[in-house]
Parts: sequence; C-alpha cells; structure tokens
Amino acid sequence: MGRHRRSRVSAGRDHPLGPDGRHLESTDACVPFRNPAVTAPTSAAALGGRSGMRRAFGLDADACTHVGRRRQRNEDAFLLTDDLVAVADGLGGHAGGELASAIAVGSLHSSGAAADPESLRDAFAEAHLAVQRRAGEEPELAEMCTTMCALALEPAGSVVLANVGDSRIYRYSDGRMTQVTWDHNWENEYVRMGMSPASARRMQGAGSLSRVIGAFPEPCEADVWTFDAVHGDRYLLASDGLTRELPDPDIAALLAAGEAPGVAATRLVEEANDRGGNDNITVIVADVAALEPRRLL
Ligand code: MN
Repeated sequence: MGRHRRSRVSAGRDHPLGPDGRHLESTDACVPFRNPAVTAPTSAAALGGRSGMRRAFGLDADACTHVGRRRQRNEDAFLLTDDLVAVADGLGGHAGGELASAIAVGSLHSSGAAADPESLRDAFAEAHLAVQRRAGEEPELAEMCTTMCALALEPAGSVVLANVGDSRIYRYSDGRMTQVTWDHNWENEYVRMGMSPASARRMQGAGSLSRVIGAFPEPCEADVWTFDAVHGDRYLLASDGLTRELPDPDIAALLAAGEAPGVAATRLVEEANDRGGNDNITVIVADVAALEPRRLL
C-alpha cells in the first residue's frame, strides 16, 4: 500500500510512530515531510483511476510538532498522508491526553475515510467511539479526550474539512486568511445562545471545551466544510499551542511569506515558542497543487 508507506502518524512524545509504523526517536524536533502526491501521476491509470476519477489536485503538506517550553509531555498528535491530514490535542490525566490524541488520529487513518462530508463525519464518530472504548478499560484513563481537525483532499477537485474541539483550520487564499473552524468551547456556545462576548468570557468554565472526541457518552458530530480545490490555496491546521501565542495577523504574515510548507510550519512553531511556548504546539501547512498533467487536458 503506497499510501500507507508514505503516511506518517505522530503520537505524542513517548510513543511516536514513524512512516512504517516504527517508533521514532523524538517528535520534539520538527519533522518535515515531503508529500509525494504532488509529483505523482504520469500514467493514464493515475489520472483515470479504476473509478474513472480524475486526479487533478495533490497536497504538498508538512507538519511540525513541539512539546513547547512549559509542558513535560507532548499530548498533541498529527496525521500526514497523501490526501488526509489531521491535528489532535489530547487532554486527560496520566498518559490519557497523548493516548487519546494518538487513538483519534490512528482511527481516522485506518478508517479509510473518503473526502466527502458524510464519510468524514462517520470517521470522526468512529474515532470518538475508539477513544471511549479504550477509556473504559482503565479507570485512570476514564476522562481522556481529544480535539481533532482534519483536511481531506478529493483529488478531482474539492477540499473537505472537519473539526471537533478548539484546534483550528485556517484557509489562506488570494492573499487573505480566514479561520474556517469554530472553537467548541463554552465561551463561544454562550455567545451563540445570545450572551455578549464580554459576559460570556467571564462565565465560569468559559474556556473549557463543549465538544470533544471521547469523554462524553453522547454521539460526537463534527462540523464539516467543503471548498473547491484551488491551486495555490494554503491550509493551516494547528493546535491551540499556536493560536493562543500568535495573533491571526502574525500567523497570516508567516503563511504569506511563500516559503515551503515545512519551512512555514517550522517558523510558526518557533515563533510560538519565542512568545512563551506555554502549551504543546502542532502545525500542519498543506498547499493545494494542480497536478502537471492537468494542463494537457
Ligand atoms: Mn493544547
């Protein structure tokens, strides 16, 4: 399976997995990853595929994760494959946080989710159950849960995004950056219920998550968005260790600098560390690229 070999799953500091499922030395260092999809199809089969689907777009994506300057463990995890990338930020006592985020991205990876809203929603619901199943096995893991945001490329021409929690996806297109996802925390929920932002911010527990993967027994539904795949569009997936340290305009400036995804991801993480590094920081920068043969069509 080419896709499996090319993929990379990071699962926190203590049990990170390499591209072949082997354990890596450390994910404290940034781990740039060149996605081969962009240089891929030269054959008619790759263009047509068995389903007749045309592979017109690829992702050029890189990830960087770092424990930060204050925390002892990296409870973030990420997934990087040809056409599916994700960031998860785990919470929970003991080893719960890093386990929850690792289970969630692992479940998403093995779900074989197609890049359509329904499939991605199902994959998130399955990840929710997978974290709950494991949490039920040990009392000290009972409260573990995780955020997860994901981007799936439908290679014929669309980008599907999904989110649960307060990791974020931004879209940088035509020189403008917009935050696509909506943080699932109580402050936002109170505002949605009609409270003023200032009052919502003062409510007890305003910063805690209102929707997570794992933990709550209710079914977990992801928010989902679909965009046309546009050559040159750049997507950013990030845990709150980035977005709590860097204001949006600073993030946009780094995305706009035109550097390769791995360089941009690394610079974002370095910048978050320079400004405090109060949490684990995980960043994926994913560029949408029209594939070469498309010009001949
Ligand atoms: Mn975090």
